[in-house]
Amino acid sequence: TAKSGGKNRIVVFDHELRAARLRHTEIITGLRRALERNEFTLAYQPIVDVTTGKLSKVEALLRWRPSAGRPVSPAVFIPLAEESGLIVDIGRWVLEHACADAAGWYERYGLTVTVNVSGRQLRETTFSDTVLAALTRHGLPRHALTLEITESMLLATGATETARIVGVLSDLRELGIRIALDDFGTGYSSLAYLRTLPVDILKIDRSFITPLTGTDHDEQAHAFTQSIVELAARLRLSAIAEGVESAQQAQALRQMGCRLVQGYLFSPPVEAAHIDALLEHGPDWQPRAA
Ligand code: C2E
Ligand code: MG
Ligand code: MG
Ligand code: MG
Repeated sequence: TAKSGGKNRIVVFDHELRAARLRHTEIITGLRRALERNEFTLAYQPIVDVTTGKLSKVEALLRWRPSAGRPVSPAVFIPLAEESGLIVDIGRWVLEHACADAAGWYERYGLTVTVNVSGRQLRETTFSDTVLAALTRHGLPRHALTLEITESMLLATGATETARIVGVLSDLRELGIRIALDDFGTGYSSLAYLRTLPVDILKIDRSFITPLTGTDHDEQAHAFTQSIVELAARLRLSAIAEGVESAQQAQALRQMGCRLVQGYLFSPPVEAAHIDALLEHGPDWQPRAA
């Protein structure tokens, strides 16, 4: 009967919930050991200037392969690292290693690096010191580092805390570090935040890029993306399109005046050695005519 079916569903749901919670606990336990066990690596994804076909920046993306087990996606472990507070130490490791890798790239090729930071890291009073120490240790100038933040990470905090974080970001920006607003357009109050946040770069979320198919069904999608590109230009911010997977999307973005693109069309995130090779031999991305 429907009644007993309903009951069973509750049992299944409860069972799944317990399994998920168990899995989360397991991941957090694993994350606690991951630094000392050297289980993290950084992958770097090229950000390409379509007008020159050259590498403009690379985004550092954290990878975790537990010594006993398969790699875990950052979409799964980053939220748990945030929840447990482990992101503070992990984030420090990321900054340290990204600066170490970027130092040589910057010195030889002027390539800059962009690093994701979470709200939890920004709330640490030692955050600026951590960032500046990593730059100094590796002789990387401040303008060679971009920090990627999301607006959603500020939503979780109260007004006073948000004001303090904005202050920290402003200070870092004064010092020359660039600030990028990641996943732009997906938050609940993008424009309100844009007015208060010290930002240099808008990263246009993949959800605005995916529908740019090059057919005429996508007029509205076009209008949205175009508007974000124009908004960035008017505010004198640079725009980076995320998740570019097709030549049509790249072409559409180029026509809209969005020069910087990132996505599988150009390259997935790759090992540091691969970036070295790209820099040495020159990437084979063709500049696209408008
Ligand atoms: P994100 O910062 O928005 O990074 C972009 C994500 O999109 C990456 O996923 C990247 O691999 C993926 N991507 C790139 N090009 C394409 C494409 O053409 N198509 C599709 N479908 N996806 C593409 P990834 O590496 O799994 O990272 C997921 C998220 O985890 C990141 O999103 C970021 O929010 C977070 N994350 C990664 N590394 C770190 C880190 O070191 N610290 C912090 N706090 N968060 C990180
Ligand atoms: Mg990012
Ligand atoms: Mg993003
Ligand atoms: Mg994202």
